[in-house]
Amino acid sequence: MSSRKVYLDYNATTPIDPSVLERMVAVLRNDYGNPSSRHSWGADAAKLVEEARQHIADLINAKPRQIYFTSGATESNNLILRGILPHLANASKTVVSTKIEHESVAAPLKSLEALGWAIRYVPVDQHGVVRKDVLSDCLKGDEALYAEIGAHNEFGTIQPIKEHAAILAQKGVRYFLDGAQIVGKIPFDVKAVGADFLSFSAHKFYGPKGIGAVFVKDRPEDASACALLQGGGQEHELRSGTLNVPAIVGFGEAARIAKSRLNAEAEQILGLRNRLWTKLRDGIPGIQLNGSPDDRIPGNLNFTVPGIEANAVLNLVSSLGISTGSACNADSVTPSPSLLAIGLSEQDAFSTLRICIGRFTTKGDVDFAADEIGRAFRLLDNAKI
Ligand code: PMP
Repeated sequence: MSSRKVYLDYNATTPIDPSVLERMVAVLRNDYGNPSSRHSWGADAAKLVEEARQHIADLINAKPRQIYFTSGATESNNLILRGILPHLANASKTVVSTKIEHESVAAPLKSLEALGWAIRYVPVDQHGVVRKDVLSDCLKGDEALYAEIGAHNEFGTIQPIKEHAAILAQKGVRYFLDGAQIVGKIPFDVKAVGADFLSFSAHKFYGPKGIGAVFVKDRPEDASACALLQGGGQEHELRSGTLNVPAIVGFGEAARIAKSRLNAEAEQILGLRNRLWTKLRDGIPGIQLNGSPDDRIPGNLNFTVPGIEANAVLNLVSSLGISTGSACNADSVTPSPSLLAIGLSEQDAFSTLRICIGRFTTKGDVDFAADEIGRAFRLLDNAKI
């Protein structure tokens, strides 16, 4: 039996880039100063943090002062919804969002609801797209915020972000994008889009885990009141706590690398994804792609084979790092709410697999995965009565 193992879960998290690791190790070893300290050790660390902030800002065409470090997209989403949102002026206590949000947006929206906020959900179509006319009809213009997942972590669909931004600007509603699956994967220009808030995370694009950022277009007047973590007043009062310098430097390096090769890499990954999809489609009768066939993040495949349990497939392909639904709620036995929201039945949701490829995936990996998965489906199909 072959001992080959292939990781294909790049939407859950990515392996660290060797160059990111190298920089982090050097910082861990040598640059241990606290960036808030007034001596040279502190100044050296603060310089490293600001260099990283610049790389991250450059990746999304923001200004460095619009970037605030957090522990990841979960914290960024909570900071926006539970920290900043209640302090925004001139709006009703209403938020519009979708039923396909990541838990780190869906759960804070539920807690806002418990606090008396109205949350309205705009429907998505069968590909998970919020159609422009549907969004436009849903907005009255007095809402505090529109929150949406820019690219979906399970089925990869990318929203028509520019068009949504234009509608929101015209209606005077603020735009919050969960960009965890966008930033570092596809070109994204926050200034051109005109988003007000954007969350993202280093470990989705070859940086370390536990570090992310929130882009805030205009710093809130009373940042300390908005902060979820109060204390030393770091990050202009918006997020207290000693900065994690090695992780921030790794994040910055990941952003620098992403910017330098975004288009070429997306193309390479797309080529491999198409190769994999062709092989799977040709080898597995009844396979159905979920999410948009065209507007999806390059590395993502999500598919259903009705009548075959995804968990049974996973048990047969233990050499592959693939998942059923979202890895973030992989322990749960409930079907993915996002898959139900795009029209899958509960049964079909349990017959759904997600495969995500990325920077380190090779042609050989893809061919191996297609063979393994095809073999598993044939076995399960033959076992049917
Ligand atoms: N939003 C989306 C769309 C995600 O895919 C994820 C990670 N699965 C998150 C938020 C949470 O990110 P983090 O792991 O950095 O907390």
